[in-house]
Amino acid sequence: MFDMSQFRRIVVLTGAGISAESGLSTFRDGGGLWDNHRIDEVATPEAFDLNPDLVQRFYNQRRRAATKAQPNAAHLCLAQVEPQCEHWTLVSQNVDDLHQRAGSQHVLSMHGQLDQYLCVNCHKEGNITGELSTQDVCPHCHKVATLRPRIVWFGEMPLYLDDIMTNLMACDLFVAIGTSGTVYPAAGFVEIAKRNKAHTVMLNLDGTDNLLFDKTITGQASQIVPAYFYDELGFKR
Ligand SMILES: [Zn+2]
Repeated sequence: MFDMSQFRRIVVLTGAGISAESGLSTFRDGGGLWDNHRIDEVATPEAFDLNPDLVQRFYNQRRRAATKAQPNAAHLCLAQVEPQCEHWTLVSQNVDDLHQRAGSQHVLSMHGQLDQYLCVNCHKEGNITGELSTQDVCPHCHKVATLRPRIVWFGEMPLYLDDIMTNLMACDLFVAIGTSGTVYPAAGFVEIAKRNKAHTVMLNLDGTDNLLFDKTITGQASQIVPAYFYDELGFKR
């Protein structure tokens, strides 16, 4: 049993497993098909050049699904703990806005967000209301068909890496939730945290073979996340 005061700097990484319980499937991790297209046919800059309509249709559909989904007990728990922790960093691989809608104030969405656009001409970003189409005009540079979802596609660099690394190197607790512990980014993050003597925890449906995790709790995120932060660490509900 830990006392919550023991950990002053916490970094949490969330992955597909936390949103899966809200009914959102991930194509990126599952290697699945969408509308008979392989995911790398719709999630690359090349795909956007070749077939922008198809790419917009894919992300419009995902955005609609995300809008309908509701945050679950795991999202709500992380939002509840944030203001109680002296230095809290939430990094998410998910592109939905369930953390934000649960009340999390600061989320480093390292793979981008479905509800934001990026202009490929002027590189300005903004919020999407409704859907994106190839007829859209950029509100900044006024070019047509330059707005793409602000999603980190295959072959592109994740966002906020400097910020994430700085916090990982300084944290005393690293918790990976709903993500595989043996592949990037969790596998890389735990290595950095461990090297800096942080306590490392994996909360996931499946266990992990990665020995860099000091502790592994298996189960549904909506159950094990509140159990860990409230019951084990002592944060207030
Ligand atoms: Zn523009």
